[in-house]
Amino acid sequence: SCKGHHRAFAIYRPELNKYSLQRLSLMSELRSALAEGQLKLYYQPKLMLADGQVSGAECLIRWIHPVHGFIPPDQFIPLAEQTGAIRDVTRWALKEAMHQQQKWSQAGLSLNMAVNISPLDLVDMQLPDIVADLFSQYNGNQGGLTLEVTESAVMSDPDMAIRALEKLKSMGVILSIDDFGTGYSSMAQLKKMPVHELKIDKAFVLDLATNSEDQIMVNTLLGLARHLGLKTVAEGVEDASSLAFLKRAGCHKAQGFYMSKPLPAADFDMWLKNYPES
Ligand code: C2E
Ligand code: CA
Ligand code: CA
Ligand code: CA
Repeated sequence: SCKGHHRAFAIYRPELNKYSLQRLSLMSELRSALAEGQLKLYYQPKLMLADGQVSGAECLIRWIHPVHGFIPPDQFIPLAEQTGAIRDVTRWALKEAMHQQQKWSQAGLSLNMAVNISPLDLVDMQLPDIVADLFSQYNGNQGGLTLEVTESAVMSDPDMAIRALEKLKSMGVILSIDDFGTGYSSMAQLKKMPVHELKIDKAFVLDLATNSEDQIMVNTLLGLARHLGLKTVAEGVEDASSLAFLKRAGCHKAQGFYMSKPLPAADFDMWLKNYPES
């Protein structure tokens, strides 16, 4: 019978079936998630290695779904990119980050906010206008805005992306190349890009304390950045000796679980009050 076929299918391909159904429902739910406040920004502190001061935070999105619970960004950002919903997600994240930055500013804290941008956000030229609108709404670029962009953003349509980045740069936005060293890097492209900062991916940092190949990679990436006149940030710092290595090697900033996981704004406040612990 028909019912029997369904059961047989469910027995042979249960994961695929469940997974694609979930994908389908997530895609249609993302828009209402935005409207209903199910998306949250978490904030991970970035330290300046020279003096240990907190310079700001990376803003990382979380979806607290009423049925599925916590959905990590790696599971829904790619879907949002496929459906085009990423534009609304990015717009929301930028607004939320600046709103929170304003609250911190009113409490006497000047924090640079780093927001992740999808490659697709650079393909349409709306992004600089969206940022300009938000600057006027939130009283300029106080504390500073950093946009973290992957290299692939520039590879798809270099001319378009570079124009968007130039415009953002002229508005005082700091541009950071995310996941540096992991993607399809193009040194020729990098040279043309109006960026300020390279962000060394955690793939090179997690085992930095003990892995000599990672140490060579990190030193090489830091050297490249130095020669290009770019600032450097390392993510994925999980222990004291990795932090010490980065400081000795001349990396400018660092973030990672050793300092703090990404936190909701209220917990970030608490963390700041207790920092430095010693
Ligand atoms: P990413 O931009 O490379 O972000 C760094 C990821 O490393 C974050 O994962 C962060 O929680 C994690 N991390 C930070 N420190 C450590 C550490 O010491 N150890 C380990 N093991 N991990 C660490 P998360 O928050 O799950 O985000 C995953 C990715 O999702 C991000 O990678 C980014 O590509 C994307 N994403 C997050 N929020 C947004 C957003 O608002 N917009 C867009 N377009 N993408 C976002
Ligand atoms: Ca990032
Ligand atoms: Ca990364
Ligand atoms: Ca990434």
